[in-house]
Amino acid sequence: MNQWQFEEVEVAETWQHLLSTQALDIGLFAAFAALALTSFFRKSVRLKYVTLVAAVGYLGVYKSQLLSIVNVFGVMGGNLPIFKYNLGWYAFALFAIATTVLFGRLYCGRVCAYGALTQLLDPIVPARYRYDVPLRIERQASKIKYGILAAVVIYFIATRDMSIYRYVEPFWMFTGHETPVMWTALGVLLLATVVVRNLYCRFLCPLGAALGLLSKVTIFGIKRWSECNTCKLCEKTCQWGAIEGPKIIMTECVRCDDCERLYMDQQRCPHWIILKRVNSRQSAVGSRESSVEVGSQRSKSVVLSDRSSAVGSIAPQKLPSATPSHE
Ligand code: SF4
Ligand code: SF4
Ligand code: SF4
Repeated sequence: MNQWQFEEVEVAETWQHLLSTQALDIGLFAAFAALALTSFFRKSVRLKYVTLVAAVGYLGVYKSQLLSIVNVFGVMGGNLPIFKYNLGWYAFALFAIATTVLFGRLYCGRVCAYGALTQLLDPIVPARYRYDVPLRIERQASKIKYGILAAVVIYFIATRDMSIYRYVEPFWMFTGHETPVMWTALGVLLLATVVVRNLYCRFLCPLGAALGLLSKVTIFGIKRWSECNTCKLCEKTCQWGAIEGPKIIMTECVRCDDCERLYMDQQRCPHWIILKRVNSRQSAVGSRESSVEVGSQRSKSVVLSDRSSAVGSIAPQKLPSATPSHE
């Protein structure tokens, strides 16, 4: 009985009821996840940008749902949302973890609303406002986020205070509730991101660092050709500082697809260019040899001289490896 003396009727909590009340939430997330995976597997630039816009609009503005360092604290303290009332959230978290284990930081590359927002800035900001961090500094600066992760985890263990997240993550921007000082700090961060591309994600985000650590166990890495040992094209293309010579640094890679599109580009990737050259030489030799065979019907002595000159014109060449290696 309550203060109005009405009898309270308890609604039985069946799974059918729980699922039906959360069906829209689960359905919308499933649609978003399908879009993100389709854009990833098809390596489509257009679909990637559609996914980034959807991430900002749906996960950021509409749901204000992002993974956060608070969730890392939650895992450590056994303080996670109640499963049956948060099916959509668990689908979201499971998607982020599973894709990281399978492919690397796909979450950062196209799901996180903040990362999506800064990536959408990329094509808009004129190149003259950009500052490209030298690779040597990039390598050192990318370690800062691991220091921040360690610091906030130690702080949480010592105090059990989760509110530290406000000072190390800007994700609250999607909820809109903060002090003028925090909004000013966010403005400075976004301005700095205009100058240094993806500044927060590359150097400062503790959640990105946590996902980076998880991505050390990634199962399906990025394929490489043997020509990647000397070619620098992908390294120069990567805007995340995640390529060092032939090596992909999976902790920094966000599976943006830029290098993977180059990998398959038959006009630009040296692997394909060399392969085409070798193939055309081989077919030239083949056609010469067949004309020699025809000539052999006429004169055996001519055959011998023609054959030796044809074979001599192309020394046996080592074909580029057609079987890619995984990093
Ligand atoms: S690094 Fe952080 S802010 Fe950037 S995309 Fe990843 S989780 Fe989001
Ligand atoms: S362009 Fe081709 S050969 Fe060069 S690094 Fe990229 S995948 Fe390797
Ligand atoms: S360019 Fe390649 S290595 Fe760099 S972030 Fe994108 S997918 Fe990863």
